[in-house]
Parts: sequence; C-alpha cells; structure tokens
Amino acid sequence: MTDSRPDIPQCPHVFDHPVTYADRQLVNDAIAYSRSIGDLTGLQIHLARLGPCHAREQYLALLADAEEAAHADNITRDHHTGT
Ligand SMILES: [Zn+2]
Repeated sequence: MTDSRPDIPQCPHVFDHPVTYADRQLVNDAIAYSRSIGDLTGLQIHLARLGPCHAREQYLALLADAEEAAHADNITRDHHTGT
C-alpha cells in the first residue's frame, strides 16, 4: 500500500512556520499557553510563526491536488463498477 499523502515542504524561515494543520495546532496551543502565563516574548514569537509562508501554500496546493486525484480515482472506479 502506498502513502498518498504529499511530501511536506520545509519552511526555510528563521521562525519556522508550521506547514501542516497538526503543526499549526501546536503553535496555537503554544500561543494559548504563553497568554496563560503572561509570556509576552513567547507570544510574539509564536504569533510570528503563524505568518504567511510559501512552504504552507505549497503544501495546501499539494493537498488539493491529492484530493482532486483521489476524487477522480473514485469517479473512475465508480464508473467501472457501475456504482
Ligand atoms: Zn516559512
């Protein structure tokens, strides 16, 4: 069985932008934690990590292509099986 997930592009920036949804959630959790303890420096750093990044844009485009390909496979399979 092959893994249909696209390769995850790597962010080259200093503040390491999260690329996947799971990684973005970790940053959101870190923001909430920084706020809860009043860590303003940590808050600024984590907020900077949520900025725009071409690696994330590339990843989202790859996901969209993979979903489109999977959808096309399902249509083709359904057509051949008559479902
Ligand atoms: Zn980046």
